[in-house]
Amino acid sequence: MTLPALPCYPCPYDASCCAYGATVSDEEAAAIEANHGPGLVYKTRWGEWRTRVRNKRCALFRDGGCTIHDRSYYPAVCRGFPWIDAETGGRYEFDVTICGEFAARPELIALQRAGPPAGRNGDSSRDGEHVPAVASTATPDGAIRLR
Ligand code: SF4
Repeated sequence: MTLPALPCYPCPYDASCCAYGATVSDEEAAAIEANHGPGLVYKTRWGEWRTRVRNKRCALFRDGGCTIHDRSYYPAVCRGFPWIDAETGGRYEFDVTICGEFAARPELIALQRAGPPAGRNGDSSRDGEHVPAVASTATPDGAIRLR
């Protein structure tokens, strides 16, 4: 099943999804610091790496989009949103209208809700490893294909 591509870069909704920052893996945090310098990611008191938020947008957001969207270390959480929850491999089960395109096109919500639930393959763990239980790939036009 191929899901529609979203207009993420540049985003017509001023990247509303970037208002909260994102959880990143240890490897993604290290790559962001190595390539962009210190201060863009931080570790929470629970030991989770997150991107910093400045002026109501992720610190990696600039000029209408994410400055690392085409890098190998683009966070898996951002790559899957709002279709896939990178931590469970199932569909993202929280508020998808954070994405302006979803808010504008309710049919996308119905499509997303028809996707596989979290832990479909028996992997419901949230151990910080961003290994999808449901395989997915991004197509050249940015759509997500579920396999
Ligand atoms: S996920 Fe939605 S809000 Fe976020 S950049 Fe893409 S289109 Fe814009």
